[in-house]
Amino acid sequence: MPASDDRTRFYWDAVAEGRLDLLRCQDCGHFIHYPRPVCNRCRSANFAPSTISGRGVLYSYCEIMQASHPYYAEKLPYLIGVIDIDEEPGIRVPAGLVDCTRDDLRCGIPMEVVFRAVSPTLTLPYFRPAGVSDEA
Ligand SMILES: [Zn+2]
Repeated sequence: MPASDDRTRFYWDAVAEGRLDLLRCQDCGHFIHYPRPVCNRCRSANFAPSTISGRGVLYSYCEIMQASHPYYAEKLPYLIGVIDIDEEPGIRVPAGLVDCTRDDLRCGIPMEVVFRAVSPTLTLPYFRPAGVSDEA
């Protein structure tokens, strides 16, 4: 289970409500992800969570064929990727990829976030190619 602490609680609280919030520097506007104490552009520590659109482009992806943990054994193979967010290309969010096969994926295609409950107490953000309709 992801461990939430004072630096990441805003993120998990937003995900539980179906939003993707990233820290944003209030002095220069740069997004900060993963959360860290100081802006890597201007050295400010003045951050606030900012809700992003959940849209971006696929920067990289991989099909996982080997389970790194017993939890994943029955999920093989599965897809993971890194998404360049529309709000600031270069700020990248790693996530599982759903509603697609590896043949649907190319670097640079538009992607959108979708939230899936993986347990009664945990919802995670995933990404899928933009425009895919929800499966029943
Ligand atoms: Zn800054």
